Amino acid sequence: MTQASYRIDEMISARAIAARIESLAREIERHFADTDKLVVIGLLRGSFVFIADLVRKLDLPVEVDFLEVSSYGNAMHSSREVRILKDLRGEIAGRDVLVVEDIVDTGHTLQHVMGFLHQRGPERLETIALLDKPSRREVDIRATWTGFEIPDAFVVGYGIDYAQKNRNLPHIGKVIAL
Ligand code: 5GP
Repeated sequence: MTQASYRIDEMISARAIAARIESLAREIERHFADTDKLVVIGLLRGSFVFIADLVRKLDLPVEVDFLEVSSYGNAMHSSREVRILKDLRGEIAGRDVLVVEDIVDTGHTLQHVMGFLHQRGPERLETIALLDKPSRREVDIRATWTGFEIPDAFVVGYGIDYAQKNRNLPHIGKVIAL
């Protein structure tokens, strides 16, 4: 697909995303109701809009940190190799951790990140993904909470890019080659 010739069809509206985040936030609050040591970790860069909206709906004391891992680059296919590009600023040993991911696709990224974070000894380690493409899964992993299950399509918007563009779309859209 050449980057010049595509259109974006709306798949999930900004309103539907906001409503889903409200209900996910209530579930997360219930799960972590007894903690005052929650660290919410955003996986850069695709989760930056989602984490910003999510933490503002959480009526809990939270700290925010970020981890950057390599993923698609500018191609539209997932590379299985996952590297840590930017590490956390804070310690997570003994902390309750919520990892915020944009999309679980093959599952390799989440599996790698979970293994990496687990080694640092968090008390609890949970995950939330805005989107899940179960039909694409190659490893047996699921986020604790999922916003929306979607079919096998290349999506953009709400923080998610295509060749670094379209992150600022307020909704999730499907990229259609023209
Ligand atoms: P996985 O390791 O599960 O195959 O891939 C996860 C990562 O691939 C996501 O965090 C995201 O960065 C990227 N990814 C998966 N599907 C899409 C998609 O439809 N659009 C974009 N832009 N990135 C995707």
